[in-house]
Amino acid sequence: MGDLVKRLAVLGSTGNLGQQALDVVRALPHRFRIIGLAAGKNLDLLAEQINEFKPELVGYSPVDNGGERVPARLTDMKCEFLSLEDIACHPQVDIVVITTSGKAGLSPTLAAVKAGKSIALANKESLVMAGGIITSEAKLSGAQILPIDSEHSAIWQCLNGEEPKTARQIILTASGGPFRDYSLAQLEEVTVAQALKHPSWRMGRKVTIDSATLMNKGLEVIEAHWLFNMPFDSIRVLIHPQCLIHSMLEFEDGTIKAQLSYPDMRLPIQYALSYPDRLSNPRIPRVNWSEINQLTFEEPDLNAFPCLRLAIEAGKQGGTFPAVLCAADEVAVELFLSQRIGFVDIAHFIERTLEQHQALAHPGIEEIMAADTWGREEIMKLVNGDR
Ligand code: MG
Repeated sequence: MGDLVKRLAVLGSTGNLGQQALDVVRALPHRFRIIGLAAGKNLDLLAEQINEFKPELVGYSPVDNGGERVPARLTDMKCEFLSLEDIACHPQVDIVVITTSGKAGLSPTLAAVKAGKSIALANKESLVMAGGIITSEAKLSGAQILPIDSEHSAIWQCLNGEEPKTARQIILTASGGPFRDYSLAQLEEVTVAQALKHPSWRMGRKVTIDSATLMNKGLEVIEAHWLFNMPFDSIRVLIHPQCLIHSMLEFEDGTIKAQLSYPDMRLPIQYALSYPDRLSNPRIPRVNWSEINQLTFEEPDLNAFPCLRLAIEAGKQGGTFPAVLCAADEVAVELFLSQRIGFVDIAHFIERTLEQHQALAHPGIEEIMAADTWGREEIMKLVNGDR
């Protein structure tokens, strides 16, 4: 019985996906135990989580202030305080769940990969920014990357029992976001509140805006390229507004496998944690076929949603371009959320930032981080009209 229990560390535990990962653990306490928790925001929730799950290891690295590293009210709790990187490669941890958003996920992901861990990975940025380094390090160390993103979980599940070499094409499905049918003129009028209302998925603010611009799908194309070693020309995006098919995989003989389920992130999270087992979790809703009368597909509109095109181009160009794309996008989404730029400006300023970039072809981690810093500074200059 004891051997069945997997010991997890959840990095980014107070974020939306981190909370959903903890809900999976709550539903299946006989299979999972939380041994580490880490967050950079929302101290109250982190303290609550520590009380509930009693982890031995805690990481707290405040992202918003450079002040005290571990607040006094947390040090009163009986746990060991470590950096995210130290938790990620801790010998007690069986699976590192990385739901940290943004570039803050890169360094712990790399630490876990180098330590040869099993990594349930939701952080897109680490693969987008440094996919080449992460996948080659994983090969060296034997680290296993278990995708949590619903699309990549779908492809991974389609590969079950198949020879990976016979996969011909990845078909990534996209909901199309709340503005799927909007014209460019309509998109210019979009408000923050409208953009934050995703039709199907419950997610954090950054990824919700990225879904509305289709940047999220672009980042997922790059992610799929690295996770499944698939050339960019063999990855296509299809809009599928019902969000039931989470992605598809076409094989050599023309067979297409699809993974369908109710759109709830707890399912791909749970599959990554329980793999290769499938477990019953009553908290996850089932597909209700009597409510579904059609499954539809359409091509994405790259003129109305240029972020998808920008991401695929950056992925194909490689080098430091994807890091700059990520950096500029993080800043642009923040500026949109704080109403300093409009919705269509997000793509505009990212494109102008990429145009200014002098890329390096085979960057190391330091060079990738430098490109990230450059991208953040450059987009601010462009927005402020200093360039
Ligand atoms: Mg996704």
